[in-house]
Amino acid sequence: MEKTSETTAEYRPFLEYSKEELAALLKSWGLPGYRVGQIRRWVFARKTDRFSEMSDLSKELRTKLAEAFVAPRQEGEDGETAKKAAILPILLENGVEKTPSPAEVGETTGTAKTAETGEFAGAAEAAETGGIAEAGQTAADGKSGSVAAAPVGFDSVFEGRLVAKSVSDDGSEKLLIEWRDGARVECVLLRDDRGHRSACVSVQVGCAMKCAFCASGLGGFSRNLTKSEILEELLRLNALLPKEERLTHIVVMGTGEPTLNLDALLPALAEATASDGLDLGNRKVTISTVGIPAGIRRLAAENVPYKLAVSLHAPNDRIRDEIMPQNRIHPIAEVLSAADVFFKTTGRRVTFEYILLDGINAGVEHALELARLLRNKTAIVNVIPYNPAPELPFKTPSTQTTRRFVDALEDAGIQVKIRFRKGDKINAACGQLRWSLRDR
Ligand code: SF4
Repeated sequence: MEKTSETTAEYRPFLEYSKEELAALLKSWGLPGYRVGQIRRWVFARKTDRFSEMSDLSKELRTKLAEAFVAPRQEGEDGETAKKAAILPILLENGVEKTPSPAEVGETTGTAKTAETGEFAGAAEAAETGGIAEAGQTAADGKSGSVAAAPVGFDSVFEGRLVAKSVSDDGSEKLLIEWRDGARVECVLLRDDRGHRSACVSVQVGCAMKCAFCASGLGGFSRNLTKSEILEELLRLNALLPKEERLTHIVVMGTGEPTLNLDALLPALAEATASDGLDLGNRKVTISTVGIPAGIRRLAAENVPYKLAVSLHAPNDRIRDEIMPQNRIHPIAEVLSAADVFFKTTGRRVTFEYILLDGINAGVEHALELARLLRNKTAIVNVIPYNPAPELPFKTPSTQTTRRFVDALEDAGIQVKIRFRKGDKINAACGQLRWSLRDR
């Protein structure tokens, strides 16, 4: 299906539509309101992104939806680039790139070789039945003659395309998604033995906060993600799970500063927690901020029902100024004061994140200083041994150093959780996969 100037001018991604807006659209098409529930059930509960698979809708409606929500091609995108987009054969396993096997690209792989390139079509997408895999199949079926005939987002509620997927032996899976403007973000599915299935999502392309220990800041800030893009991250991660499982938690701890994009993030989370959305409990959602006081106060003022985590990472302004330049604008006292407002307003305890960087903030003296800072607060400190990134100079402290730090905090009466980062082998520190694949 070729895009028309009409669809381009009016294009608004499907996932931008609230339930009410979708109902209004269907009404304008002369359709009854119950269709909204059917469509949402497919997208949120049955994990399909394809309109063509929504089998309890009429064929005409499926076609109409696919036409209405086909993402227009990017300016300058031609058949060649669309075709290249469809044949990226990147699959990473434990950080090692490999060519996908026929099993990994699905039943259609053998027939989905394009005549022109001899490359496998839709490798990464086929792994999760995305739209591009279908484009390859269409070509193989001889119906369109070319994968390039299918624009990005054809027959899909999604607007992005999967560029890479990496799998860690601890069960973590990381996706790199490219949006229609070429911008890329990562999101991660984390599994643990308590049965938690957590989505870690990004909220911005790049990040302006420039935390010294984080690879996400290396490429600078590009733009905020939209509601639909954040929701697409969640739906793609949810779709990685087997049919009988679904996401149990959301942590907004990927690339970007959430409180600088609340206008997109909060509507996306509202869909995630809606009973006819992903149906997650409000308390299963954690927003993690670098500590923007105005953003924290807005979360308090709007009484958002989610948990708040503040990235503290240092016990004093001298160290925090060095590793988190944002601290020079909003020093620790301001951040803690805003966190107090959040706690007093919502009654929800704030978590303080603390990445242990060897030789910088991981000494017993730092633990004691941190304990003094948080004395008399209803708070918990989440200690995270640093996950090394090849492009950054920091080191992970030894287990002994980590233990001493945690003991000193606990002895001083601070409640501590220690979190070993999952997904180390797939470059799971935020921003690292996107950064390492930036030239592809
Ligand atoms: S740690 Fe978070 S806030 Fe800091 S640069 Fe990385 S993504 Fe941005």
